Amino acid sequence: MKIVEIRTHLLEHRLDRAFESASMRFDTRRHVLVEIVCDDGTTGWGECLGPAGPNAAIVAAYRPFLLGRDPLETEKLWAELYNGLRDQGQRGLTVTALSGIDIALWDIKGKHFGMPISALLGGRFRNSVRAYATGFFKQDGIDRVADAAAQAARYRAEGFHATKVKIGFEPEEDLRVIAAVRQAIGPDMGLMIDANHGYDAIEAIAVGRKAAAYDIAWFEEPVAPEQLDAYRAVRAGQPIPLAAGETWHTRWGMRAPIEQRAIDIIQPDLGGCGGFTEARRIADLASLHGVRVVPHVWGTAVQIAAALQFMAGMVPDPVRRRPIEPILEFDRTDNPFRQAVVKTPLEPVAGVLSIPDGPGLGIEIDRDALIHFAPEPA
Ligand code: CA
Repeated sequence: MKIVEIRTHLLEHRLDRAFESASMRFDTRRHVLVEIVCDDGTTGWGECLGPAGPNAAIVAAYRPFLLGRDPLETEKLWAELYNGLRDQGQRGLTVTALSGIDIALWDIKGKHFGMPISALLGGRFRNSVRAYATGFFKQDGIDRVADAAAQAARYRAEGFHATKVKIGFEPEEDLRVIAAVRQAIGPDMGLMIDANHGYDAIEAIAVGRKAAAYDIAWFEEPVAPEQLDAYRAVRAGQPIPLAAGETWHTRWGMRAPIEQRAIDIIQPDLGGCGGFTEARRIADLASLHGVRVVPHVWGTAVQIAAALQFMAGMVPDPVRRRPIEPILEFDRTDNPFRQAVVKTPLEPVAGVLSIPDGPGLGIEIDRDALIHFAPEPA
């Protein structure tokens, strides 16, 4: 079995209404899928976290390393690809591109052996996961507090067991948003906050101390990802557990925050941290240090499927009669191709997603959707 082609598929949709996190503005949804084709006709799919065009360019740079190779050699290929761009790589796009490739290779492996990836990873601990709703981005000309209350009520009605609020804009307004959401969802639903590294340590500590009254499960990316000292200060200075990981790459990138206990929850993204091959090592590293793993998810159903396969195989930590179950991040913002790229959408029912049990990722790509959402030629 040999790899004969590597393609990327850019997807694009101009939004009717732009939205913002503390660090980024989205007026267009752009994501990129990776397709790897083998000489026997087997095709694997992956997806890269982050900017679509630059990721596609790096995937293309890896192409010569992959052509003619055995796709089942996931460990060897990971090491060789990583090493191929290592001297100027190590993190960022070189790893997010490698992640999309690694996911596609595991999809091929699963299809080749007729098993879901979770089975190849060592078996399933669960066949479904509860989803939490990610939303509450800032939108031009919309009252954040009123909009947050309305969104929160909607997610509750849709059956989500928890939701995550975007903050990191302006502390006083952020706290009013948090209060409005807690009031709208009631005391029993889970609530997390995510600053997308919009604060400095002084702001983050002040917000964390006041937000704690609203029973917050975790405080995500309070400060810039490079500032591990600031993470430790925020962790020591306020009572909410800290979470981060979507901007850190590989076991080496996750090592310092985990070992230095800068965070309580590590959030590797399958399409960003180095794919299945590396996510397993990161989970092992987290387990060594008693850090909880909750994967980050942002993208299309391909990313959701990858997270689901990985989460199926996540070992409970600690092992006990009623273990702590991982929860799935589920983006509720506007993205018409999120589910259109697959023939069977991966949508929660009463807040719960079933983990596909078909071969590989357990999804079938709808090529008509890839054409429909391809960018207009420049
Ligand atoms: Ca986040």
